[in-house]
Amino acid sequence: MRTPATVLALVTAGGVAAALALPASAAPQAPPDRTGPPPVGHELPKVPVMTGGGGAVASVDPVASQVGIDVLRRGGNAADAAVATAAAVAAVEPYSSGIGGGGFFVHYDARSKKVTTIDGRETAPATFHEKVFLRSDGTPMDFNTVVNSGLSVGVPGTPATWEAALRSHGTMSLNRVLKPAEEIARKGFVVDETFHQDTLDNATRFALFPATAAIYLPGGSPVPVGGIQRNPDLAKAYRELRTHGTKALYTGRMGRDLVKEVRNPSTAPGVTVPKGQLTTADVAAYTVRRKAPTHSEHKGFDVYGMDTPSSGGIAVSQILNLLESFEQRTGRTVKELSEAEYLHWFSEASAMAFADRNRWVGDVPGVPTRELTSQAFADERACLFDPNRAQLRPIPFGSPDGSYAACSRGGTTRLPHDGQSTTSLTVADRWGDVVTYTLTIEQYGGSGIVVPGWGFLLNNELTDFNFAPLAPGVPDPNLPGPGKRPRSSMAPSIVLKGGKPYLTAGSPGGATIITTVAQVVAGVVDRGLPVGDAVAVPRLSSRNGTEEAEDAIFTTAIGAELRAKGHVLRQRPVIGNATAIRSLSPSRWTAAAEPVRRGGGSAMVVHPR
Ligand code: GLU
Repeated sequence: MRTPATVLALVTAGGVAAALALPASAAPQAPPDRTGPPPVGHELPKVPVMTGGGGAVASVDPVASQVGIDVLRRGGNAADAAVATAAAVAAVEPYSSGIGGGGFFVHYDARSKKVTTIDGRETAPATFHEKVFLRSDGTPMDFNTVVNSGLSVGVPGTPATWEAALRSHGTMSLNRVLKPAEEIARKGFVVDETFHQDTLDNATRFALFPATAAIYLPGGSPVPVGGIQRNPDLAKAYRELRTHGTKALYTGRMGRDLVKEVRNPSTAPGVTVPKGQLTTADVAAYTVRRKAPTHSEHKGFDVYGMDTPSSGGIAVSQILNLLESFEQRTGRTVKELSEAEYLHWFSEASAMAFADRNRWVGDVPGVPTRELTSQAFADERACLFDPNRAQLRPIPFGSPDGSYAACSRGGTTRLPHDGQSTTSLTVADRWGDVVTYTLTIEQYGGSGIVVPGWGFLLNNELTDFNFAPLAPGVPDPNLPGPGKRPRSSMAPSIVLKGGKPYLTAGSPGGATIITTVAQVVAGVVDRGLPVGDAVAVPRLSSRNGTEEAEDAIFTTAIGAELRAKGHVLRQRPVIGNATAIRSLSPSRWTAAAEPVRRGGGSAMVVHPR
């Protein structure tokens, strides 16, 4: 593996950096068996942890992280670099996020010392109602039928998020920061095992849509490992956004083509899929929302995250609060626990947080965010906790009503459906601004529908609504509705100490995002782990049903100890794919990305030292 210094020299010499007007004279040569221009960044190694100054980036991909580092080197700030990195991720890992999706952008401004958020979640059409996913006999439609259809597609919020982030916090134009992404889409990237496998996993549904198959199943099958995946139509879409701004999507021809495709998807001969309801008026009406972040205090740290329509910020804060409550009740600290004891505590806290989010959190008025994230509510909920025994699942939800004394128990709800996709990135700059940004098109490959001529996949985010109420007689805040945003689990988080950045964290992984992010934060803050270790450790995801555990828990003495306490575990090979930055001083950071899961991510700093 190359040293970090060589990496920087290599990249500065060509490829991605050339897109930002650096000299291209020493661009890497394509291997002889490849035709066309050399793919972008094909020689970049993946480094999961890097420490240094000048700014830091962590994402799932070295090409994308390098784009962010190039922006920082050329004087851009964290918001500039985050948008450039996100656009690059969407070109190099197009099944997880992109122009056709949405996400949540959380920003710390060093001058004002304020954390702010941008909600760029996809939005339902104005015609949506509570029963839109029910058949005429009142039963829910088949989930996968809805996934691969126009009906699952919400108005994309990602381009609007990029524009809003640059306008509020950035210094560079959309035109400039999207240029590397356009180059990646045009020149292509080298297909690795993970991308190849993702394509194989999606091949059947991609084959339903000829525009998608033409890009990702050229000649009828996926591009092999080592081959080059290009997407000239996506390059065109980026160029359109660079030239005309996001109105190209929201009121322009790209948006009109999107609406046409959603309302009447172009399918292979003999295939029909449900049509969507989006109109050009829905697309034109899209705006990002700006809500205050969620906030809780945890052991002298301030934890900030995303409020509704995500449940991420609320649930992460609640898990951390519950760990504190358990400490109070037992007189023990999280730090002194064995790994199995800690995971028992963590599992109980997570399951309780999920019981509450399923009952109380959605894109509806009156969500009791402040109560749910309060220590007093957690202290009341902690009355159910037994340090020696797992509670029976499902754990009842609590009553976040502001009056906390009795050990109140509400009813229970079932588990909602949850998927596994998405991407998360984080950036710090030399001025002390930080960003953590999680974005998605819902499932890997989204709805499977590419907008013909524009190369990007459309989301299936509207399947994050519950198709029917989770439990009879219990109000469900996550039913579909007009102009409503489906509840998310995305949890981009920023932890401050003394008003200054201490840690950022985010992850993909559907509902497991919440448990992964809470595990990273608790790993650093409560367990005292270095950030790279907190990102790497084996994960357990407990969401108020059967608990999922990675092999290093499931098959070991730790799993046995958990089972002895009554935990019911299911094996899950991979949970999450986190990125994080730990601020060591105002000018020094450790960036951390996933070392192994999904082939590993990429952490970089401007000046490694
Ligand atoms: N749609 C999911 C959410 O917003 C993210 C997609 C996933 O990671 O499965 O929570």
